Amino acid sequence: MDFDVSEEMETILGMARSFMDAEVVPLEGAMLHGDAAALNAGVSSAQRKVREMGLWAPNHPVEFGGLGLPMVDHGLLSEVLGRSPLGHVVFGVQAPDAGNIEILHAHATEEQRERYLRPLVEGKVRSCFSMTEPEMPGSNPAMMGTTAVKDGDDYVINGQKWFTSSADGADFAIVMAVTDPDAPPYQRASMIIVPTDTPGFDLVRNISVMGDTGQGHASHAEILYHSCRVPQANLLGVEGNGFVIAQERLGPGRIHHCMRWLGIAGRCFDLMCERANARVITAEGDTLADRQVIQHWVAELDAEIRGARLQTLHAAWMIDRYGASTARDEISAIKFSVAATMLHAVDKAIQVHGALGVTDDTVLSYWYRHERAARIYDGADEVHKTTLGRRILRRYAVGAGDTQEWSVRR
Ligand SMILES: Cc1cc2nc3c(=O)[nH]c(=O)nc-3n(C[C@H](O)[C@H](O)[C@H](O)COP(=O)(O)OP(=O)(O)OC[C@H]3O[C@@H](n4cnc5c(N)ncnc54)[C@H](O)[C@@H]3O)c2cc1C
Repeated sequence: MDFDVSEEMETILGMARSFMDAEVVPLEGAMLHGDAAALNAGVSSAQRKVREMGLWAPNHPVEFGGLGLPMVDHGLLSEVLGRSPLGHVVFGVQAPDAGNIEILHAHATEEQRERYLRPLVEGKVRSCFSMTEPEMPGSNPAMMGTTAVKDGDDYVINGQKWFTSSADGADFAIVMAVTDPDAPPYQRASMIIVPTDTPGFDLVRNISVMGDTGQGHASHAEILYHSCRVPQANLLGVEGNGFVIAQERLGPGRIHHCMRWLGIAGRCFDLMCERANARVITAEGDTLADRQVIQHWVAELDAEIRGARLQTLHAAWMIDRYGASTARDEISAIKFSVAATMLHAVDKAIQVHGALGVTDDTVLSYWYRHERAARIYDGADEVHKTTLGRRILRRYAVGAGDTQEWSVRR
């Protein structure tokens, strides 16, 4: 294992960290108190400065103006940006655009690259990814009700989707729809690019999540595709390959999520320690930091975050070295374990802040509302645990014979 960070990357991480503290964290007040005008103006101004620093969309391919960072470096940057809910948007690497850019880069035709990919990378438009349906189990996406039926030169799409994140204000959606209901389950669906101004693309509502409906990028939409007609030229990749492409999107995407969660955990840890030192709890001047229970929380969380960080960097290193397919066990493991660490950090930081922790005067309550979902999206905990546990046990089955490889890898 080698997570060595180059000098150039050290410089980039240092610049990003300073910029986050000076320019991004101060914008959180407008976000937490619903001042959309101040927030949008602040984010636009910060995005301009990021471009001037040459750090816009650093994970994107060099040919599109990015830095083409490998997975470990991108992960380290994602951790820094994750320290604020606004970090990824300000640096142009927010989900779901980042994942869409990856699959468009790998599968788009020349025409699709110019029409959809280029403006997306340049930050001129936003996109969304529309797969999950309210009436079907997202954990078993082979069960899908949305269809795309060929008619002349077009596909006609019908179906209901929800939790299409960031659809509000997006220029186009990448939609998963069944194109061949008679094919084997994981060859039935395809990805189709649908401009959001296409007649029949109906954004029904932004769904209220724990009391917050959000807006624009920070929202999750329900969408009805109602005889929504797009040219067959909008098919992404090969027909029937929707799940193969989705898998490509999810592997590296989980590293981005986990490193972002580690950024959240790190910031919560900092806030927790600062509060513990500052909060005087006795007339004699004792602070929370003087209490052993708080000292134990700090020590335990520090150890937990360090472990989660090394685990995630190891998975990223595995992807860089062997590819996402070989690293799938490591990716499954971090998806549920790092989500748990992050949620533990949010919870403990709130506890140390007392009543202040549940107000919107700090960012902690925002994360408590919006990051609970980490254990659900991109594969619920139970699904990852079942898959990983089953694969590990298979290695130990009599005659399977590759337990040594597994222990070395671990
Ligand atoms: C904030 C947020 C953002 C999202 N963004 C997007 C997006 O941009 N685009 C998109 O298409 N989707 C998105 N999703 C949807 C997400 O991918 C699904 O919620 C997820 O796949 C789970 O599907 P489900 O909600 O239908 O739960 P279900 O499949 O109904 O599962 C419910 C629960 O059952 C349990 N469970 C399920 N299967 C098993 C099993 N095999 N064994 C044991 N237990 C099991 C798990 O605990 C799971 O949480 C988002 C979701 C959230 C919450």
